Amino acid sequence: MKQLETDVVVVAAGLSGLAASVAAAESGARVITLEKASNTGGAANMDMGVEFNSVRPAFRARERTRAYADGEYTWHVVQPEDGSEPGPRAATTMTKRMTEHAQELGVEFMLECPGTGLITNDEGAVVGVTARDKDGEEYEISCSSVIVATGGFGHNAQMIKDTMGFEWGKNLFSFAIPGMDGDGLNMCHAVGAGHTPVTMEMMYQIPDNMNHFYVEGAFRQPCYWCNRMGERFMPEDEIFNTTFVGNAINHLSGKVAYAIFDAKMLRHWKKDGPDIVSHVHLHDLYEGFDEQWERDLADGYEPICQADTLEELAEKAGIDVEGLIANVEEYNEMCTNGWDEIFEKEREFMQPLEKGPFYCCKQYIGAYGTLGGVLINHNMEVMTDDYQVIPGLYCVGTDACTIYGDSYNYCIPGNTMGFCLNSGRIAGENAAAKLFEY
Ligand SMILES: Cc1cc2nc3c(=O)[nH]c(=O)nc-3n(C[C@H](O)[C@H](O)[C@H](O)COP(=O)(O)OP(=O)(O)OC[C@H]3O[C@@H](n4cnc5c(N)ncnc54)[C@H](O)[C@@H]3O)c2cc1C
Repeated sequence: MKQLETDVVVVAAGLSGLAASVAAAESGARVITLEKASNTGGAANMDMGVEFNSVRPAFRARERTRAYADGEYTWHVVQPEDGSEPGPRAATTMTKRMTEHAQELGVEFMLECPGTGLITNDEGAVVGVTARDKDGEEYEISCSSVIVATGGFGHNAQMIKDTMGFEWGKNLFSFAIPGMDGDGLNMCHAVGAGHTPVTMEMMYQIPDNMNHFYVEGAFRQPCYWCNRMGERFMPEDEIFNTTFVGNAINHLSGKVAYAIFDAKMLRHWKKDGPDIVSHVHLHDLYEGFDEQWERDLADGYEPICQADTLEELAEKAGIDVEGLIANVEEYNEMCTNGWDEIFEKEREFMQPLEKGPFYCCKQYIGAYGTLGGVLINHNMEVMTDDYQVIPGLYCVGTDACTIYGDSYNYCIPGNTMGFCLNSGRIAGENAAAKLFEY
C-alpha cells in the first residue's frame, strides 16, 4: 500500500470535480484528484452548454460561447475548439480548458485510479481516501478534506431499479455513461452520510439514440402523439419540452408513447424544414431521412415501423387498432375545423393523418443521469441524517444535486452543469479555507 499526503483529495475529475480541484488549488491548497476513467471531464464531455452565471469563472472564455437569452437567464452553448457549430459534446472544450488550468495550478491527476473508500478517525471525521490504480496498486492518501464528485449512478441498472423502480432497457433508455456506478454515494453513506431522495434527470429518448439521432430528431415534431390505446395525451406543440414529455410518458401504460406522421407531413418538413427546431438535433434532418430510415427498417430497429394504412401501422407498433382509428378520426375532424378542442394545440400544427405511408416511432423515458443521494449543507459539507456535519467531507455535482424536486428544469437549459460548477467551486474554496483557519 502506497502512502501519500496532501491537503485536499477530490474524488473524480468530471465537471464538479474539476471545478473543485481548480477552486481549491486557486485558494492555495495542494490537491490530488483521483479519476476512474483514462481522461477527465466525465459526462460533461457529452454536453452542449452551461447555465448563465457560471461560464466566465469556469471557462474564462465567454466570447467562445453562444448565449440564448431566456428572461434574465442565458444558456451558454460552448463553441467547439475547431470553430464548428456548437452541438452535443461541444462542452469538451470547456472541460479540457479546466483540466489544463488545474494542471497549471499544480493539481495532480491520478487517472484510472478510482477512489475506493473514505478513511475516518476516532471522532468520525474524514481524514483520507483509499484508491486502487489499474495495475492493482493500492493507495492510502491522508488529507484534511475529501470532495466526492462521482456523477451519480446512471450506469448502475440495479441501483436505479432498487431506488426508483425503473428497468433499464425495458422502460428506461437513459444515457448510461460508463463509470457512473454510484461509488461516491456508497462511499459517503458508508461513513454515515445522510440520504436525500434520488431522481432521474428525466426527459424522453429512443433506445440507443446517439446512433439513431436523425430518427429521434425527425419525430420530435408536433404530429400525432398517442398512448397504447391510440389516445392523444398532451398538446403535441409542447413536445419540444423534453421534461414535460418524459413526465407524461412516465404515467402512460407501459411507459411508452407513439409519434406518428404521414407522407404529407414528411414532404412538408423536407421542403420547409422542421416545425420545431431543436438546438440539439441537426436542422437538415430530413435531407437524408429516406436512406437512413430504410436502413434502420432493414436492420429491424425495434422502435420504428411504417405501413400504408393506419390499421396495419397500429398492429405493427402494438397500438390498439380500433382505438387509434377512432381517435385519429376525431383528431382529423378537429384539424378540418382548425381547432383542437381537447388540448388547444396551435392551429398551424393541426395537420391531419391522411395518406400513407404512415411512419411511427416509439418514445420512451430517457434521462441524462441520476440526481441526488447525499445530504449536504450550503457549504457542500456532507451531513448525517440528523443534519450533523461530517468534518472533512464534501459532496458535489450530481451525487448531491437536489435542486429540482421531481422534474428537471427545462426552462433554464444548462442548469445541471451550472450546479456542478458552482457546487464544486464552493466546496473547493471551503476545503482550502479550512487549511488556513487558526
Ligand atoms: C448526453 C448528455 C448531455 C448533457 N448535456 C447537458 C447540457 O448541455 N447542459 C447541462 O447543464 N447538463 C447536461 N448534461 C448533464 C451533465 O453532463 C451532468 O449534470 C454533469 O456532467 C455532472 O457532473 P458531475 O461532476 O456530477 O459528474 P460527471 O461529469 O458525470 O463526472 C463524474 C466523474 O466521476 C468519475 N468517477 C466515478 N466513480 C469514480 C471513483 N470511484 N473514483 C474516481 N472517479 C470516479 C467518472 O469517471 C466521471 O469522470 C448532459 C448529460 C448527458 C449524459
